[in-house]
Amino acid sequence: MTDGTMPDRIMLHIDGKQLPAADGATFPLHNPATGEHMGEVANAGAVDVDAAVAAARTAFEDRRWSGMRPRDRARILNRAAGLLAERIDEFARLETLQIGRPLREMRAQLRRLPEWLEYFGAVAQSAEGTAPDFGNGYLNVVRRVPLGVAGLITPWNHPLLITMKKLSAALAAGNSIVVKPSELGPAVPAALVGLLEEAGVPPGVVNTITGLGATTGRFLSEHRGLDKLDITGGTETGRVVAANAGRSLIPVTAELGGKAPVIVFDDVDVDEAVAGALFAAFIATGQTCVQGARVLIAENMYDAVVSRLVERTRTLRLGDPLDAETQIGPLVSSAQREKAAAAVDRAREQGAIVLCGGRVPAGAQYAAGWFYEPTVVADVTDAHDLWYDEVFGPVTLVRPFRDEADAIAQANDCPFGLAASVWTRDVGRAVRVADQLDIGIVWINDHHRIDPASPWGGSKDSGIGSENGWDSYRAYTRTQSVVINSAAGIPDWFGSSADLRYS
Ligand code: NDP
Repeated sequence: MTDGTMPDRIMLHIDGKQLPAADGATFPLHNPATGEHMGEVANAGAVDVDAAVAAARTAFEDRRWSGMRPRDRARILNRAAGLLAERIDEFARLETLQIGRPLREMRAQLRRLPEWLEYFGAVAQSAEGTAPDFGNGYLNVVRRVPLGVAGLITPWNHPLLITMKKLSAALAAGNSIVVKPSELGPAVPAALVGLLEEAGVPPGVVNTITGLGATTGRFLSEHRGLDKLDITGGTETGRVVAANAGRSLIPVTAELGGKAPVIVFDDVDVDEAVAGALFAAFIATGQTCVQGARVLIAENMYDAVVSRLVERTRTLRLGDPLDAETQIGPLVSSAQREKAAAAVDRAREQGAIVLCGGRVPAGAQYAAGWFYEPTVVADVTDAHDLWYDEVFGPVTLVRPFRDEADAIAQANDCPFGLAASVWTRDVGRAVRVADQLDIGIVWINDHHRIDPASPWGGSKDSGIGSENGWDSYRAYTRTQSVVINSAAGIPDWFGSSADLRYS
């Protein structure tokens, strides 16, 4: 549970109990805006991961949650949604403290999250089996049953949103889970478990193991006691986790990196296009998988859009993320800032032009945190690393296109295929372009929008499977086919020499 202040100690949560790591290990949590040491986090070892998986397994097998009727599970998820709605401000404050995203953004994002619990509760209640024609006096009932124990591995950039997307589908379907949050964003996922148990989710059904990716995350993804792995993270981590799922022969959902194009056609108003590009590029200080990282602009309005984009980027307010006026917070860690700065330096070396930003801001208020100025880069070609590599920071590039075909070709020239936005008033063009993008999520005249009913997932190096919607619910179930013989007598296969039928 949380009152909006950072606890001194963040513990493991196993079988309904708050526990330290078995060997007492911890790691420190720092405030990204101030560098201040905020507390210590339990660092789960292999023994703790075993204990969490065992608790989840016991909870699954004794059917304390998996055996409940979907409508009873939904009632509890709805109660959790109500509790979360009452406590949004505390959760939002905690998110801001741990990852440095501006409070105004966290409030806006978290206010939506109760919808995921409500939506998947409703899906579970309306899920139906099928009865395919089996013929010959047989009735075939095909049911969807939960998988068992799911391991959820989540990143730091939207700690609660991403945990919620996975957890609400998994729980609604009747699974037990073990969550491994990022070491940079453990506080809110840990607080969520308390809230779920307060709402009535039985102990042992949701377990949280905080720790480092290279150890705790690895132990979980290599664990043979799981029935599903679901990760959101970088593409290389996704490959490792998916390979482990392959070795265990269990299904995997992997939501990975992105490099989203923002395609601006010349029939949109310059100011509207720029407002859209700013939103796409700099929300969450650019640390989102669907960040508008490549702004592609019709060549006849390129100069107008770029000069207005640079002008407005320069006016974005950096600062204390708890201040309601702040628009851009710090990056989450010094490593993340170094990664952004290195990508910009490399682009410069390769001949690109930094139009604004591209440096650590000057001023005492920025000295202790991991701030970096919002950055717009021009003259990037496909010979530059910045064209293809994900930065995951407040850095975007601008590039002109000749016509519709060129815009589509540039947008698809990318190892990732997660998201794109298309800005045009021409409906036919919007549909034609969306149709030819090898990309999982396409917004027309908007960006970043998400809904629990709307699939979220990408092609190519952006991952496997999707979150949200019916597909993600089904991906937390498997089919069981029950074949019922309605004949009056039991057939005696070996007791007759009559011409036999196999079904
Ligand atoms: P990472 O890949 O570094 O980490 C993701 C999670 O995996 C963390 O919990 C991490 O733990 C854990 N992890 C790291 N190494 C291993 C391992 N060997 N075995 C098992 N688990 C491991 O990503 P970030 O947290 O830095 O998140 C940023 C990335 O996530 C970006 O590439 C972004 O595009 C992607 N992302 C994708 C989204 C989507 O919907 N497609 C949404 C949001 C982000 P720890 O942090 O403790 O190291």
